[in-house]
Amino acid sequence: MTQQSQNQQIDMASARDLPPEQAAFFYLGPSKQVAEGAVFLSSFANVTAFTGDDGVLLIDTSQERFTGRMLQDLRDNYSKAPVEAVVYTHGHVDHVTGADTIIAAAAERGDRRPRIIGHRDVAPRFDRYRLTAAHNDHINTIQFNLPPATKPFTNAALTYPDVTYDQGMETRIAGMTFEFHHARGETDDETWVWCPDNRVLCTGDTFVWCSPNAGNPYKVQRYARDWADALEKMAAKKPLHLLPGHGPAISDEGTIEEALLSTAHLLRSVHDQVVAGMNGGKWLEDIIRDMDWPATDKPWLQPIYDHPEFVARNVYRLYGGWWNGDAADMLPAHSHDVAAVLVGATGAAPILDRARKAREDGDLQIACHLVDFVRKGEPDNKEAWELWRDLFTERTAEERSLMARGAFKAAVREAEAKLQQLG
Ligand SMILES: [Zn+2]
Repeated sequence: MTQQSQNQQIDMASARDLPPEQAAFFYLGPSKQVAEGAVFLSSFANVTAFTGDDGVLLIDTSQERFTGRMLQDLRDNYSKAPVEAVVYTHGHVDHVTGADTIIAAAAERGDRRPRIIGHRDVAPRFDRYRLTAAHNDHINTIQFNLPPATKPFTNAALTYPDVTYDQGMETRIAGMTFEFHHARGETDDETWVWCPDNRVLCTGDTFVWCSPNAGNPYKVQRYARDWADALEKMAAKKPLHLLPGHGPAISDEGTIEEALLSTAHLLRSVHDQVVAGMNGGKWLEDIIRDMDWPATDKPWLQPIYDHPEFVARNVYRLYGGWWNGDAADMLPAHSHDVAAVLVGATGAAPILDRARKAREDGDLQIACHLVDFVRKGEPDNKEAWELWRDLFTERTAEERSLMARGAFKAAVREAEAKLQQLG
């Protein structure tokens, strides 16, 4: 098994039945032992079990509803030893909400309660999730196109870490040596794990088989440059196995190095261009217009979740304020009031005509901006809502970024609801 795994590079054959470009991110394959004492438990999110003679260290818990199956797999096929500790790679709900299940399973076996280890900023993250649970539930229904009844934050079982660290921590667990490294990247509370004994790297969501989630339009700040730094530090360890937060494991030294460094390059390129633009006195929209976008043609850099443009906006947000440079947008009127005045002055028809022309010319962005004035300025204009619905249906079909598609689908849903109301 181990030898075969070492020769295996990227096995996407058993990816779920999804469009090929999405298969890797949502990959749920068989579990496998990748090296002595290291088991990759493919799940959502992935879990790694380091299995010693007398104990097990788990890296992440997966999302609660997958944890039972993951534990069963571990017990049936790899180890019966007690879970000594669980390390959180970061506090996102798809990585940590199975902790209660793991603790309950230990109690049932008569084992000691596993220690929960995480970066010191996991706890403030959980506090924030509690403070803004309803907001995050709402936002997630848009980002992931979920039914409104889904409440992943209100219903999240958050088990706070018992052991925290700041910059780094070296320890022995289950008879093996581990380095826990803190980084900021997708989140501010990240831990990536290095096991020097078998040269296994657990990246958490610092590597997830798609263009980095360093720009998410729905969520709090990400850290593109720190993320690139972390990827370069990981590559310097020369891992034999890369076990990511999502998607399949990679067990080929050359591929791992290329995957880590090309991702770092993308982030650094976007980061440095935005900073150069800011220092050059440019406003955000001009920076975006003038960007020389890095290539995303590697299988692990496809912009199927986040989008490099979002990363650029996020870098600007890290270093700048919210003002866009337009004096009218400093202490502005509500956009609906502006639209009402404009549509009142011109009438809706010429704006909608111009929008249809833009659509025919293939300029869906401009068409959407134009229709936006009418749907806001004349909220009962049926034609505007029909066009709004059709434009975003078209853009949903063309767009690869799941985060962008989420917003587009929400626009379609809003238009459909409005049209039903208008009869
Ligand atoms: Zn994740």
